Amino acid sequence: MLAMAELTNEFSWSRSRDSTFQECRRQYYYRYYGSWGGWSAEADPAVRRLYILKQLSSRQQWAGRVVHDAIELALHGLRDGRAIPVEPFIRDVIEGMRGDWRSSKAGRYRELPKTAALFEHEYNVDIKKEAWQAISNNVAACLRNFFRLPLLATIRRTAPEHWSIEHWSKMFDFEGTQVWIAPDFGFWTEDGRLALVDWKTGGGAPGGASFQLGCYALYAADLLKVPPKQVDLLEVNLREPVVTAITWDDDRLEEIREQLRLSIRAMKAYLADPEANVAMESNFELTEDLRLCRWCNFRAVCRPELA
Ligand code: SF4
Repeated sequence: MLAMAELTNEFSWSRSRDSTFQECRRQYYYRYYGSWGGWSAEADPAVRRLYILKQLSSRQQWAGRVVHDAIELALHGLRDGRAIPVEPFIRDVIEGMRGDWRSSKAGRYRELPKTAALFEHEYNVDIKKEAWQAISNNVAACLRNFFRLPLLATIRRTAPEHWSIEHWSKMFDFEGTQVWIAPDFGFWTEDGRLALVDWKTGGGAPGGASFQLGCYALYAADLLKVPPKQVDLLEVNLREPVVTAITWDDDRLEEIREQLRLSIRAMKAYLADPEANVAMESNFELTEDLRLCRWCNFRAVCRPELA
């Protein structure tokens, strides 16, 4: 195995990388270049600082991740034939959140950046107790809805050895670039179709994430060799809960390919050395939209005057 120090920062594409790039070039630089190597406590303090800031999540992002992780855990249990008592399961999840909250509040993440790190704690955002309570209520509601979904009953009628939880690759080669695209869950329906599922915990119109779903169609086509006409893309809004099914076709798949190509090309055009994936900070401009800075993880380093 390679030692950490021998890792090289190789260019790869992901949906979140694309959104960061669209939002603010400097933020993109910090996230994918400036913080590189900061996992080591011995890293240059400026790099280490960026790395720690990079780990911060807003309370909503945190809640979303908690729900995703809990669903993954539940599906593992169901796959192994275990019964999951819903309320005790949810109680454990909420208990875990309390532990994470306390750890973040105490700033443990500054020593151990992979532990819970909330933006609100790092930046002393005053959040009322009720607002934190609303976050955990939302997590509990999403999980309760998950267990009641007719879709879950449908999934459970299919063969678990064909479920994808983590054993389908999340990365594949797209025209020479590694792309990270993977649905949250996938299974083969009883009538032989491939269903790819995206769990959503926030608001937003159904189908709003169509680029993301299109990327899943690409994932199905290029990695699993399943053509769009045989794929159902399911966006599950766990808050309502509402399941929106979307189908894709070859023409729209080509549009996704083109969008991906453009995105990769735009990112590479910013590099000092695209071959070696080397970036220079000064090439990455700061956004002019200060509203984005307010909620940016890197504000303390980039625009400390906004504190
Ligand atoms: S503080 Fe503003 S300009 Fe700086 S990285 Fe964040 S969003 Fe970009």
